[in-house]
Amino acid sequence: AALRRLTAAEPTLHAFLTVDADGALAAARAVDAAVAAGRPVGPLAGVPLAVKDNLCTAGIPTTAASACLANHVPAYTATAVARAVAAGAVVLGKTNMDEFGMGSSTERSAFGPTANPWDTARVPGGSSGGSAAAVAAGVTPLALGTDTGGSVRQPAAHCGVTGYKPSYGRVSRHGLLAYASSLDTVGVLAASVADAALLARVMAGPDAFDATAVGDAVPDYTAALAAVDAAAGGAPPLAGLTVGVVTDERVAVDAAAAGAVAAAVATLRSLGAATRPVALPRLPSAVAAYYVLAPAEASANLARYDGLRYGDRGAAAGAGTVGELVAGTRGGGLGAETRRRILLGTYALSAGYHDALYGRGAGGGGGGFPRRLGGGVDVLVSPVAPAAAPRLGAGDASPTAVYAADALTVPPSLAGLPAVAVPAGVCAATGMPVGVQFVGPAMADALVLRVAHAFQ
Ligand code: GLN
Repeated sequence: AALRRLTAAEPTLHAFLTVDADGALAAARAVDAAVAAGRPVGPLAGVPLAVKDNLCTAGIPTTAASACLANHVPAYTATAVARAVAAGAVVLGKTNMDEFGMGSSTERSAFGPTANPWDTARVPGGSSGGSAAAVAAGVTPLALGTDTGGSVRQPAAHCGVTGYKPSYGRVSRHGLLAYASSLDTVGVLAASVADAALLARVMAGPDAFDATAVGDAVPDYTAALAAVDAAAGGAPPLAGLTVGVVTDERVAVDAAAAGAVAAAVATLRSLGAATRPVALPRLPSAVAAYYVLAPAEASANLARYDGLRYGDRGAAAGAGTVGELVAGTRGGGLGAETRRRILLGTYALSAGYHDALYGRGAGGGGGGFPRRLGGGVDVLVSPVAPAAAPRLGAGDASPTAVYAADALTVPPSLAGLPAVAVPAGVCAATGMPVGVQFVGPAMADALVLRVAHAFQ
């Protein structure tokens, strides 16, 4: 049934880069056989899953939407995917994205854009736009995405679905084609928080292949949500919690985004939470910090696509020297936005800027990711994006305007915090969905999922 929905939706959406129909049917039949034989099956048995194309899948092309990986077929499977499959999920295929995760619209794919199922003249957001569109169109109930600075949450908001970005280190990055290693996370796009929690639990936990995957025990997220449902008859489900409402006039949001937060505050109060405005003094610096750090890491991570270690040499045909081979592979095989990020990052890392950038940035940090939020609040709520999904092509004129729209999604990424984006209304002007995000302390994923579930 999912393959039929995919076939019907793809001509208009282009959410998928690869469809593994034979593999999916074989996996689904294996689940059927296990059920028929009375053998135990996992919590995701038979659930169709779409996987972002920057997560390695053994034997199935994995391109990160880059021409330079158009013919790349990995020999191994990313831990997050392998754990979902071990729990019974059936991988339908690989979803479209901005090349290597660099973008906010899925238009920076080497293989053409994905359309938003709500309005096919608009972008689905990005970079996990194919995964968000697949879930929004009802092709699959669950999809894997990755979130470095908003790439799960923002497309979820733009497509009217749920997006969960785990705490940094909660889910292994093994088998994720790296963009910015200190920020990259593997997250979930889902029809509901409850569905996201099911997948989150099977993916999370330490992994011998990723030293940054933290060892903390993985809570039963589904049980944490059940506590909310049980409370429905008695005490208000969010009694005792204080939600900080991010309020900052320096970050412009439109009427729809502001209205969604105002309505969310009323809902949170009706659920028993206290709310209070919270100022984040460094909020306006987050985009600037992110767009130094993320491109700096990207410039190092993407050095491997040189036609020697990785990268299709097709674009370097006729090269006479190693230098020409590398330049041809990178100049012809990497897209304009990816090359812009590599140049930005290489510039930021050049020795002459050590004091201006690294020295200033190194001053205030240390101590790891915060396990408590300040100001006496348990979680934060804010818009996900300053506005609903723009039209295709709207971001072409100004990359920096596109970067600025990440103002509210990059702060939790820089701090390694868990965040869940949930639908929170519709923009009156465009009819497009808008979302709010809940953010909690590092490793308090269960708390954030619980609040988002109660809200939903
Ligand atoms: N839009 C942001 C960027 O372009 C975030 C992308 C992401 O989270 N992968 O870097």
